[in-house]
Amino acid sequence: MITPEEDYYVLSSLSPSPVQKRLALFVVLSILAVYVSIVSGLTANFHPGAVGPFTPIYSTAMIVNELITAILLFAQFSILRSRATLMIASGYLFNALILIPWFLAVPGAFAPDGMIGGYQSTSALYLFWHLGFALLTIAYALSKDAAPSRRYWLGTVREAITYSVALTVTAVSALTFLSIAGEPLLPVVISGARNLTSLWVWFVGAPVVLTSMAALVVLWVRRRSLLDLWLVVIMVTYVIDPILAYYPDPRRFSVGWYAVRTFGLFAGGVVLIVLLYETSALYAQLVGAVRAQRREREARLMTGDAVAATIAHEVKQPLSGMITSADAGLRFLNHPVPDLQEAKTAFRQIIAGGHRAAAVIEGIRTIFKKEDRMSASLDLNDLVRETLALVREGLAKHRILVEAELDERLPQITGDRIQLQQVLVNLITNAIDSMTTVEGARVLSVRSEIHDDGNVMISVADTGRGIGPQDIDRIFNPLFTTKPDGMGMGLSICRSIIEAHDGRLWAAPNTPRGAIFHFSSIRSVSA
Ligand code: ADP
Repeated sequence: MITPEEDYYVLSSLSPSPVQKRLALFVVLSILAVYVSIVSGLTANFHPGAVGPFTPIYSTAMIVNELITAILLFAQFSILRSRATLMIASGYLFNALILIPWFLAVPGAFAPDGMIGGYQSTSALYLFWHLGFALLTIAYALSKDAAPSRRYWLGTVREAITYSVALTVTAVSALTFLSIAGEPLLPVVISGARNLTSLWVWFVGAPVVLTSMAALVVLWVRRRSLLDLWLVVIMVTYVIDPILAYYPDPRRFSVGWYAVRTFGLFAGGVVLIVLLYETSALYAQLVGAVRAQRREREARLMTGDAVAATIAHEVKQPLSGMITSADAGLRFLNHPVPDLQEAKTAFRQIIAGGHRAAAVIEGIRTIFKKEDRMSASLDLNDLVRETLALVREGLAKHRILVEAELDERLPQITGDRIQLQQVLVNLITNAIDSMTTVEGARVLSVRSEIHDDGNVMISVADTGRGIGPQDIDRIFNPLFTTKPDGMGMGLSICRSIIEAHDGRLWAAPNTPRGAIFHFSSIRSVSA
């Protein structure tokens, strides 16, 4: 079932902003200004007559306009399942369909006297068109605030739309048949092709004005949404339409006749534009919401299961260092003449490793707790050198050549030494892993540089197997790994550390092969 929060994202329940209200008011006032100037006789000397292409252009534009609006509203119905939206969507479909016979019947469009029906047919179709839409608007306004049990369509969307289309098509066909075949029986509301008789006022004008007024009042009282607001504007044109058609010049193709057609087209166009605009705005909002949700999910992942994985991942490196040192220490003690000096060095390394592991664990705690990060002034070049010394064994074991190109002008930066070292260790370990999987020269280059804008950038490049284009965006996701014993936490931790330092971490292909990881914009003390 639909929850009220979902309504918020659908245009037919979105409330209008002050700007949208002002725009609607402006359109209504402009329509009224034109209305007053015509009624007050300002255009009395102007008789445009039948302008050949006007009716075909008008009708085609209207049909397309109303049809697209109907489709958009049916699409909204399929999300919301509100009966009210179904009514108004049917209203638009009704308009689009009934405009077709009206267009064929109106004199001067396809044939001088209309292609189908007689003179009364056009007026009858005009009456049905305006009454039908006004009545469906009333139905819409009355059903949109109904009790929730009656407000929503409980069947399938397909069923609802099928019924609605079938009913509308049947109604339009029946009304068309009545207007065309029953033409001789209809009251004479128009004499000849153009002149409206006084019967027109009673049989066409008054019913349309009254029904449209009723629709206007019901809509106004219950208006809430952007769609309601624009339906109010349309209903204003519906009320004015028959008045201008008859007064002051009761002839078809008078200034008033053209004016109301133009209003109708314009107001209908505005509704469609508003619908399209709002639909894309909502779409953008939705994309934003999905992104935020994904970020939130990732963040949650970072704080949940990820903590355990992170600890395991980060402590592995100092632990294996400690085991290597302990092995070495034992070997020195097992010599026929134990080398106590070397053994002591090994023990000191074990102690240092233990401290590092403790610091790493403390560091992990602060990754997840943003507030109490240890910030100190530090020299990144020193940190790079220190880190390279730390991973020296691994590099030597895999016969990797190290190139360090460090810019000595690098300013001091503020940051967490342990965390930034973790980043470097991670990037270098990944580089080593990648290079051991391929044949050929193995070169690790670490560069530091300062950009003109004061940003500091560190790059770690390797000649390993590189990163496939399909993976380049995914490697930073938590738990993404391509290694059989990988945990996929390293890069995601690196990225959160660098971002916590107001920097950016990204990867790019190296030439001729391998990958480069850069991080930059670390806060510098002197900048
Ligand atoms: P793990 O090392 O546990 O797999 P990481 O988050 O550190 O986790 O890395 C994720 C993935 O990114 C790796 O499995 C690997 O596919 C890719 N990757 C990282 N660094 C490199 C590199 N230098 N060259 C090629 N691929 C890399």
